Amino acid sequence: MQRGNKCVFFNCGKSKRTNNSLYLFKFPTDPERARLWLNNSVIIGILGNIDLLSETNLKNRVVCEDHFDDSNFTDERKIRLKKTAVPKHFKEESSDEESCPNAN
Ligand SMILES: [Zn+2]
Repeated sequence: MQRGNKCVFFNCGKSKRTNNSLYLFKFPTDPERARLWLNNSVIIGILGNIDLLSETNLKNRVVCEDHFDDSNFTDERKIRLKKTAVPKHFKEESSDEESCPNAN
């Protein structure tokens, strides 16, 4: 992976440059899944007419580990994502209180 890749997630922008131990995950090569990732991580409107789903664009896009639930990883070290992993929706993440229906 190229150095200096920044997390595209809404309001994030973390990169290896600022956090060396950060794990960044490339967008899935499957267009359907890539679209899910995009929907959850960016406000599509802001990016205007850029063809986000074109292969070249997605190749250079990454999302950092912060936006995935623990259950999305194949192990505790959070190095590898499951094939089915999808980042949390940015609106969900930016809310102050986490809803925990199972807390009781
Ligand atoms: Zn991030």
